[in-house]
Amino acid sequence: MEISSAGAVTLSVVIPMFNEEDVVPGLVARLRPVLDALAVDYEVVAVDDGSGDGTARVLADQARSWSHLRIVRLRRNSGHQAALTAGLHRARGRWVVSIDADLQDPPEVIADMLRLAREDGVDVVYGVRADRSTDTVFKRRTAGLYYWTMRRVVGVDLPAQAGDFRLLSRDVIEVLRRLPERTPVYRLLVPSLGFTSAEVHYTREVRAAGRTKYPLRRMIGLAWDSTANFSAAPLRLATWLGLLSFAGSLLLTVFGVAAYLGGATIPGWTSLFVAVLLFSAVQLICLGLLGEYVGRIYRTVQDRPAFLVGSDSIDPAEPAEPAD
Ligand code: UDP
Ligand code: MG
Repeated sequence: MEISSAGAVTLSVVIPMFNEEDVVPGLVARLRPVLDALAVDYEVVAVDDGSGDGTARVLADQARSWSHLRIVRLRRNSGHQAALTAGLHRARGRWVVSIDADLQDPPEVIADMLRLAREDGVDVVYGVRADRSTDTVFKRRTAGLYYWTMRRVVGVDLPAQAGDFRLLSRDVIEVLRRLPERTPVYRLLVPSLGFTSAEVHYTREVRAAGRTKYPLRRMIGLAWDSTANFSAAPLRLATWLGLLSFAGSLLLTVFGVAAYLGGATIPGWTSLFVAVLLFSAVQLICLGLLGEYVGRIYRTVQDRPAFLVGSDSIDPAEPAEPAD
């Protein structure tokens, strides 16, 4: 851990990469002049997410002639968000930009992000994909559904079409570092903290080389992580089902008793019928109750700050510090 060296450089650029050997030379050729032109201290943290191809070798080649390039190699493929976590935790910059390796996010935009952060003093600058015409129809549709669900169902007010290309200030990084989450989803986590933010709009380019590392299976995984990380609604399902079946079983009980009184049943049927109905409903309701408490334990274990005090507070008695 490099806590003591936090802020040692002005800008860190974190790049998770998984099997991107074809992309790395083009990435470096385009990123390096952009960063050099900024005239600030910078470092690039390339996180090799357990690649099985020549990514490690190609990166090492580049690092020989580019001293700003750091290479963090994960022992196994841990997934994009985990690789991002590794990079964010090791970045030393006053500002930290995360960007995809495949040049779908134009590196030139980093200059705009840094300018906004410095001039407007915001803590977060989102890269917003204003134009995704280079993505497939399927990708755009599923992305649209994702952002809609997150806003309307899960209830996180995330900027539409903001992915993982963004700038974070050191203050945000320090809050994120403290979170014990195993499956963080940064595009939701960051807006949920409420830091001051700005947006830069850009056109999503086509992948420079290679194929997407986000097949359908991983997209579903990200969508489920996003939902389960931010909503206890699935846990509440048992309560609602329980209440629904309780209401249903009351109606059926009336039907069962009527059948009994009408003499249209065999002995023992009514009591069994009613007992099974009511007990199933009661069990579901109890499961839901348990779910409520599990939800609370989950929130406690996630240990997200209940509030964060802004640095613009006017409170001489207390230094403005993020809550533990
Ligand atoms: N990535 C990663 N680990 C993974 C999957 C992806 O580090 O397990 C990286 C990948 O190399 C790229 C970024 O995450 O830099 C985004 O992936 P990709 O471009 O394939 O996703 P898409 O743009 O198709 O959604
Ligand atoms: Mg991509």
